[in-house]
Amino acid sequence: MNVPFMDLRGMHEEVRSEIETGWRELVDESAFVAGPAVAEFERAFARYCGVDHAVGVGSGTDALRIALQAVGVKAGDVVVTVPHTFIATVEAITQAGAAAAFVDIDPTTYTMDPGLLQRYLERDCVVEHGMLVDRRRRGRVTCILPVDLYGHPADWPSLLELAGRFGLKVVEDACQAHGARLDSRLAGTFGDAAAFSFYPAKNLGAMGEAGAITTASAAIAEQAGLLRHHGQRERYVHVTGDGGNARLDTMQAVVLSAKLKRLEAWNEARRRIAGWYRDRLTGQDLVLPVERAHARHVYHLYVVQVADRDDVRRELDRAGVGTGLHYPVPLHLQQAYAHFGHTSGNFPVAESVTARCLSLPMFPHLTEEQVEHVTASLCAALDAMACRS
Ligand SMILES: *Cc1c(COP(=O)(O)O)cnc(C)c1O
Repeated sequence: MNVPFMDLRGMHEEVRSEIETGWRELVDESAFVAGPAVAEFERAFARYCGVDHAVGVGSGTDALRIALQAVGVKAGDVVVTVPHTFIATVEAITQAGAAAAFVDIDPTTYTMDPGLLQRYLERDCVVEHGMLVDRRRRGRVTCILPVDLYGHPADWPSLLELAGRFGLKVVEDACQAHGARLDSRLAGTFGDAAAFSFYPAKNLGAMGEAGAITTASAAIAEQAGLLRHHGQRERYVHVTGDGGNARLDTMQAVVLSAKLKRLEAWNEARRRIAGWYRDRLTGQDLVLPVERAHARHVYHLYVVQVADRDDVRRELDRAGVGTGLHYPVPLHLQQAYAHFGHTSGNFPVAESVTARCLSLPMFPHLTEEQVEHVTASLCAALDAMACRS
């Protein structure tokens, strides 16, 4: 049996006719940019998240950059994020003209560790002329950018308390967390603004590139709306030069509206699959994903930690099981960020997770038989490792 790491076709069969109808209408109308389907999806997605505003953009990376700019991040600022995330989180910070500072992750949820954020703010920053300044980067610390990684919400109560105490803006990277919750609050509602990606493989995915910013603030929504569209308030009247073209494609808005109606069901399917994994893998020499009290994990990825990860991965590949690594190299050790001056040992939790993480197949239409094949193959690989050592 072959089990792919990801297979989107089951989802697309469910929405195919709705999307084909919507696309046919769009071709008939031939209004491809900023058509009514965009505003329709924005309204539906805002309602789903429980926020007043959603602003559709071209990708999750655009959403992050524009969210940072819209909350006021600018050149000379420092934005605090984590070294264990997709690189887009940090790219957005530097694209907004700011510098990135890293705080390590919590070893159980893989999201920003509030205790370490507090230590960073108290020990690595100083107050000069009433401004909080990062001693290393000599920039003004203005914003935190935690990530709801793998589909589990960050520890928002603690992070928001610290942000409030230090007067920091908060942008939430919710690119992996559509529908994730803490109590009754959804991902996308915790910061001043949040960024979502609708990359095809995300829990809510387009058939191409797309993203959105959510916010409770009319002013931030208006600013984001300007930044995605050349700073235009009306045609050829430009009120800011910091913008560009980052609009949500209308064809993608049609796809997203159709798929949004199924998101809750697909997230429930992911949670059921996570339960099958947990039932079969508990007791094995693995670290399984944790769902904190009050949290609803939406398992964008099902990531375990395992010793001899690369050998185990090779065995799974031989058994026809596709896996992924999220992520194999922490950002502070990437060549791209060598100039940040970090070395191995600076963020030990991120370093240990990158060495041991293994993402197992996870998508809503994965069957119990497929999960059985994955877990049986994984247990066999672990047994083989144990015998060898
Ligand atoms: C996918 C992702 C992004 C970027 O989204 P794109 O739509 O690919 O630009 C940013 N941050 C995280 C955590 C992601 O998973």
